[in-house]
Amino acid sequence: MAKINENYLKLQAGYLFPEIGRRVSEFIDANPDKKVIKMGIGDVTQPLVPSVVKAFHEGVDEMAKGETFKGYGPEQGYAFLREAIAKHSYQEKGIDISADEIFVSDGSKCDTGNIQEIFGNDNKIAICDPVYPVYADTTVMSGKTGTCQANGHYEGIIYMPCTKENGFIPELPTETPDLIFLCYPNNPTGTVASKEELKKWVDYAIEKNAIILYDAAYEAFITEDGIPRSIYEIEGAKKVAIEFRSFSKTAGFTGTRCAITVIPNELVAYDSEGQAHQVKKLWNRRQSTKFNGVSYPVQKAAAAIFTEEGKKEVEEVIAYYLENAKIMRESLAEIGYEVYGGVNAPYVWVKTKNNMTSWDFFDKVLNEANLVGTPGSGFGPAGEGYFRFSAFADRENVLEAMERVKNLS
Ligand code: PLP
Repeated sequence: MAKINENYLKLQAGYLFPEIGRRVSEFIDANPDKKVIKMGIGDVTQPLVPSVVKAFHEGVDEMAKGETFKGYGPEQGYAFLREAIAKHSYQEKGIDISADEIFVSDGSKCDTGNIQEIFGNDNKIAICDPVYPVYADTTVMSGKTGTCQANGHYEGIIYMPCTKENGFIPELPTETPDLIFLCYPNNPTGTVASKEELKKWVDYAIEKNAIILYDAAYEAFITEDGIPRSIYEIEGAKKVAIEFRSFSKTAGFTGTRCAITVIPNELVAYDSEGQAHQVKKLWNRRQSTKFNGVSYPVQKAAAAIFTEEGKKEVEEVIAYYLENAKIMRESLAEIGYEVYGGVNAPYVWVKTKNNMTSWDFFDKVLNEANLVGTPGSGFGPAGEGYFRFSAFADRENVLEAMERVKNLS
């Protein structure tokens, strides 16, 4: 008799986006003449930039000719891409990361989830609340937790509340974790961590022999000076941190798929006898067994963002989204909302008024302004009373949406 992995039964149903979809469909059916503007899901809206498209086409053309055709590529990614990333994303910024510490993949979603597999189930995991739901769900799938409790927290996970009271940066937990998920710029709060705040975490991880799983999917949106784009800007981080980066939000690759995971050579984890093992070696073993690489044209397209032209084009798109975020922040603040994020991130995090719940605010915004955002409580119980607006939208829609917001009661 086939047996299932019962950890999957502990997972709460994927409630957030289906529920949003259900309420939006219901509204549209009842109000067919209303134009609903969607600023809910964090997917990009602007097309791939010309340099990327050109390189993508060239990659396809190479696959079409016998002399340049490529079959399986290296599981870790082509050297040309790994070297370009090492040089432009790290070394040029004074960070000592080499190409052999970089693994190219088809997404940070997969990598932040799959990484759990190389760590034993006796690890204690610390996760921010609210945050990108993949960390908690994949922790459950891997068998490191008990069941889901009434407040939406899984037994066995150390939750670290991120609220306006702590500036959306978690305090060091009282129970010691072995693996710590951090995500800055943050989804959903759109907030960033300063050097001092990240140093606190790196020092803590060194002291506790813990590993930080640092999701920097939105690093390209950091525009203010002094905010670290990489955890490796912090001294000692190479000993204790894995960094995830993605081309998805950086360069509109959500439908094209390319990301990287950085595992420094000196990062180790321990077996039950206390013997240290290179984490990179385990991840390499995992990837070469279960993953066959990202397609050649996609890697060529990804490398194009490091050319002079490509870099400029990509920065323009990011500036466009950030201008959207600015318009949203200012419009919401003008009508008296407390607004967070949206300066170094594509998400604007809004506190509802009069202690309204996130879902009540969702209904209000949908009914009164015909706008769709994301209820903060969907990212974790500490997100209750907050609401996320995504700046990944067309300018025209943002302007119209904010005009409508002004009339919110
Ligand atoms: N990490 C965070 C924090 C995200 O918000 C997202 C997507 O929304 C991802 C990772 C997924 O990245 P990818 O498209 O590379 O799988």
